[in-house]
Amino acid sequence: MPELPEVETVRRTLNELVVGKKIDHVTVHLKRIIIKPEEIGEFCLLLSGETIGSVERRGKFLLFMMDDYVLVSHLRMEGRYGLYDALDPLEKHTHVVFHFTDGSELRYKDVRQFGTMHLFPKGRELEEQPLKKLGLEPMEDTFHVAAFRAAIAHRSTKIKPLLLNQEYIVGIGNIYVDESLFLAGIHPEREASSLTAKELAALHAAIVKTLGEAITAGGSSIKSFVNGQGEIGMFQHQFKMYGRKGEPCYSCGQPIEKSVVAGRGTHHCPKCQPLKLAKAKK
Ligand SMILES: [Zn+2]
Repeated sequence: MPELPEVETVRRTLNELVVGKKIDHVTVHLKRIIIKPEEIGEFCLLLSGETIGSVERRGKFLLFMMDDYVLVSHLRMEGRYGLYDALDPLEKHTHVVFHFTDGSELRYKDVRQFGTMHLFPKGRELEEQPLKKLGLEPMEDTFHVAAFRAAIAHRSTKIKPLLLNQEYIVGIGNIYVDESLFLAGIHPEREASSLTAKELAALHAAIVKTLGEAITAGGSSIKSFVNGQGEIGMFQHQFKMYGRKGEPCYSCGQPIEKSVVAGRGTHHCPKCQPLKLAKAKK
């Protein structure tokens, strides 16, 4: 599942591939991808003649900013975009095709069919679902320690599910939560309200560092995951925690433990991330 760094990398690649292209017409092969408007015919009609000015991101959503409309796209599990020539054969699982006036096509492929697209008149996109209730944007300049503390410090929820909740902070999924909590030395089951000011500052810094490094890694290997047909995939990031159950912690050598926290597979180091709940309460 793509997380913020992957979506950001896809956004940057799309900006290189499709900005300035004018849509001649759109073909929808799978209706369920298009959530808004309900009428597929209207979706196609509104997009005809629109030029892509830029591709932005809010959380894990891509925003195609056009003349009069904004297309909000979520890749969910396996959605991906690719730039093709109109003559290229249509591959399996291609659900939406944006035919450009220059003969190229942006194709949306999605094996799992969980991806979504919403079309809004420009300016309305942030006032309605799915972008309406999104929380802090961790890669923006506005993501200060104070804002982070105000959003989470008084909550009695465990820190991991809180960080996964998009209403507080956007774009950090399961992998990067585990990586950030390890870097900050915080057990995933600590209550948010039990975190000290120092721990909150360390966690804030860890989130910024983890996401920043992942974006840099994606950005620097950008060519390698745009294949011959211009298909944008995921990049592999070197994880310190994720997927390393039983392997030695890079910091202390203890075997990494895996458990289930709030229904999600969770990795942590028992030594570097002690669960000091009881102690903190006394
Ligand atoms: Zn450790």
